[in-house]
Amino acid sequence: MKTLEALKSHWGYTSFRPLQQEAVESALGGKDSLVVLPTGGGKSLCYQLPAVAGKGGLVLVVSPLIALMDDQVSAAREAGLSADALHSNLASGPKSEAYARLSAGETQLLYVSPERLLVGDLLDDIGPRLILAAVDEAHCVSHWGHEFRPEYRRLKEALDRVPEAPRMALTATATPEVQDDICLQLGLREPNRLIGHPDRPNLVYRAFPRRDQSGQVAEVVRRHEGEGGIVYAQTRKDVDRLAAGLREAGISAAAYHAGLDADLRRKAQDDFVNERLDVVVATIAFGMGIDRSNVRYVVHANTPRSLEHYQQESGRAGRDGLPAECVLFFSASDLATHRWLAQKDGNLAPERQKSLERQLREIGRYAVAPICRHRILAEHFGAPYPAPGAVQEAGGCLCCDVCLEETKSLGADEALVTAQKVLSAAWRTNGRFGAGYVVAVLLGKGDERIQRNAHDALQVFGILKDAGEVAVRSWVDQLVVQGFLEVFEDGDYPLLRITEAGKALCKGEGSVRLGVPAPPTARGKKKSKALKKAPAGAAQPDEDLFERLRRLRKMIAGQLGVPPYLVFHDTALVEMAAQKPQTMEALRAVKGVGDKKLERYGRAFLTVLTGGEPSGLLI
Ligand code: ADP
Ligand code: ZN
Repeated sequence: MKTLEALKSHWGYTSFRPLQQEAVESALGGKDSLVVLPTGGGKSLCYQLPAVAGKGGLVLVVSPLIALMDDQVSAAREAGLSADALHSNLASGPKSEAYARLSAGETQLLYVSPERLLVGDLLDDIGPRLILAAVDEAHCVSHWGHEFRPEYRRLKEALDRVPEAPRMALTATATPEVQDDICLQLGLREPNRLIGHPDRPNLVYRAFPRRDQSGQVAEVVRRHEGEGGIVYAQTRKDVDRLAAGLREAGISAAAYHAGLDADLRRKAQDDFVNERLDVVVATIAFGMGIDRSNVRYVVHANTPRSLEHYQQESGRAGRDGLPAECVLFFSASDLATHRWLAQKDGNLAPERQKSLERQLREIGRYAVAPICRHRILAEHFGAPYPAPGAVQEAGGCLCCDVCLEETKSLGADEALVTAQKVLSAAWRTNGRFGAGYVVAVLLGKGDERIQRNAHDALQVFGILKDAGEVAVRSWVDQLVVQGFLEVFEDGDYPLLRITEAGKALCKGEGSVRLGVPAPPTARGKKKSKALKKAPAGAAQPDEDLFERLRRLRKMIAGQLGVPPYLVFHDTALVEMAAQKPQTMEALRAVKGVGDKKLERYGRAFLTVLTGGEPSGLLI
């Protein structure tokens, strides 16, 4: 079968996403490739399609995410592929069935964990039928990445036993350094490097200083009533408190962290994936096993440890390509906590220490610099922003708090004068006090310690009173991330002092950028509901019909015991609700409706599309 035909008949899509075709053709042409595509970019198709296009054959997929494998197998079967997974959690029945299909030569797609691949002689058995060996989450092979897995280092040895099979390494996040490391460690042979642009244009990024964690989190959650979302917090205590607060406010929310009973955790995950639960409040332990494609928002109630972590965690929003929101509530104290956690078992090696400091600086800069968040992320992953050839409106990306002017940049002169005021307060207090003290001086607070130190006599005392505490605190953070101030530890206390660059700025040398976060009430109440944004010129989806289609999907998913997104993605439902197809023929034209799904679900959806009530599948 030709590639485009296979794309329509198995997946219901009429065109490839960027680099998918190149990846498929590499595989079919017997060439190695490195595929870096952002979350939602459509990586699975790159290795699945070769199994049904060309001459066909067996595609092996190595993945560390055992929790996801069964879902991926179900999704591939929905597309009409003969797929199986081999991993340690497999019950004996399904296991022998999988082996039977494998030895009968029926299997087209086989998922294995790295552990499973490394033992026994699986590779010798399947070697002759193998048309592609794909390694998913390939960044795990690199020490430089953020999820190093020692077993990944032994994959090259295994793959070398099937030298004829082309290799494909796939990942969502890899800096150029990590990309090189992947090619080296997996022994890719003159690979086609297919590096997609890392930007996720459907995500709205927002970053604000944290003042009131529960209140700020609740405000975002309320804006997304009835939609799926994830809230990440740093400690179990925070997770429990935030989840309880949301539940009290009548929101369907559950906590998820390593301290909870395994059954409770499994239930939260199951309920979330099956859309019986709207919000999961979690430590980062949650997410690796989550493939729900219609997560509409991800909130970070604390700052993550690096931009890689942020990209990965926030990337769980909007995998279906529809608008979704990612909000980060930043406080400089989070960075101190990360430092403390990293060092609590002893000092770090100097190289590790340096890279930790760099990571914290970068995430801090992302959170407080008044610079387009999409740009900061893209540049961090080695890509220019906007992407070459992309047209951008004068107002920037229009999907981050800076470009939407929810965080306003001060003009160059005002920024300089303001920065000089903050810096001189830090200079005059001689690096003997913490950030909170310096802020109190600038606000003119009549605190007893300030009087005792006679700092109420300083010229800068009360000089930024009118700006308010939120802005002044944020300016201190902004000056820290730009290197004009630094926080250092003295004994147990983090103290604030001016740097050489800061002193130079006070004398008018250099330039600085400062932003002011808009007060919370004035903040954009923009909805990112899947329905609110039909592309310009397209028919507007019928909201009521969409809800009925959603109900039908949930019924069918319940009947079949699979997550709703496996039946159809939100994108397909939105298109149905807009186009209102009335025949099987017309339904087949909807993106995401392939032959297999049409055959299985077509009638049930047509019933609703032609005005009937959802009643599930007739089985
Ligand atoms: P990734 O693994 O890169 O995060 P997935 O493989 O899960 O992405 O694909 C993300 C979504 O995009 C899925 O819903 C998938 O069905 C859809 N998709 C993939 N390829 C295409 C395409 N060519 N056209 C439209 N949608 C696609
Ligand atoms: Zn922007």
